Amino acid sequence: MMWLGILTFPQLESAGFGFFWVVMGLFVGSFLNVCIHRFPVEGASVWSPARSHCPGCDRQLEWRENLPVLSWLLQRGRCLGCAAPIHWRYPLVELIGAAAFYLSWRAAASLGWGFLLLDSIVLAALVVATFVDFERYEIPDQVSIGGMWAAPVVSFVMPGLHSSGLVAVALAAGEAVDGVASVSECFAGMALGGGVLYGLGWIGKRVSGADAMGFGDVKLMAAGGGLVGVVGTFQALQVAVFAGSLVGVLNILRWYLVVRARQRRRRLPNRGRPQALRTARVLGRYLPFGPYLALGIGIVLLDWKDVLDLLPFGLG
Ligand SMILES: [Zn+2]
Repeated sequence: MMWLGILTFPQLESAGFGFFWVVMGLFVGSFLNVCIHRFPVEGASVWSPARSHCPGCDRQLEWRENLPVLSWLLQRGRCLGCAAPIHWRYPLVELIGAAAFYLSWRAAASLGWGFLLLDSIVLAALVVATFVDFERYEIPDQVSIGGMWAAPVVSFVMPGLHSSGLVAVALAAGEAVDGVASVSECFAGMALGGGVLYGLGWIGKRVSGADAMGFGDVKLMAAGGGLVGVVGTFQALQVAVFAGSLVGVLNILRWYLVVRARQRRRRLPNRGRPQALRTARVLGRYLPFGPYLALGIGIVLLDWKDVLDLLPFGLG
């Protein structure tokens, strides 16, 4: 009866399944490239045309040109037909897809299929939001609004998601968290996440007069909040603010060095420094915030204790 073994449910925690899941992640990464490319385009569908074309020669790609990472490496980053360069973003996103699936597997394989799929899909969606936001300063509604619809449904079906949530535990009153308590936690997280970002945007606009926070960020954090609950939202926001500020300061420093180098070439004396700093602050002002929200949501979802323990307001 040994052969029956292959018919039984795969052991999610086995290294063999982990390897399979990472390879899945590579192919999902290919699909994420399509989403990143087509989501922001009005009226475009990710399903049709189903096969990719080369934008250079408009030729439909063969299967061997669609192998994640491998095709790009074998073709040395060029189209086989017209030799047009293929952006390194494509293999990078495929590798990130594999990494996302690996991290989800490590965090959730022991929790069963539900959590493994949830973590993998949510991380994949966050990767799409991150790349689109970096490129176009917007977060696709497919991710943010889609997530706002999905969060309550998932919370209801998988009450374990909020088994230690503040609101859920209070409502369950000693019993195990059920669907209703779980959905309540979800809505509380959505309200907190969306509300805090909306408030920050409102204050930012009062202070600087410009739109400091896009509505896409509000919707993304509402969706994320619904998945990670009240405490998780609070933690995710801390990660986002810290990471976003750090990158913001480094970005201004980068512009400062660029402006100073230009001033030196024009032999401007040292009094150019304050002016360089002013210019750098203006040039470095526009940074997307979505990627850092995505980072925070991802870290909380995967329950990365090493990072969460560092937060000043842990609540963990
Ligand atoms: Zn081509």
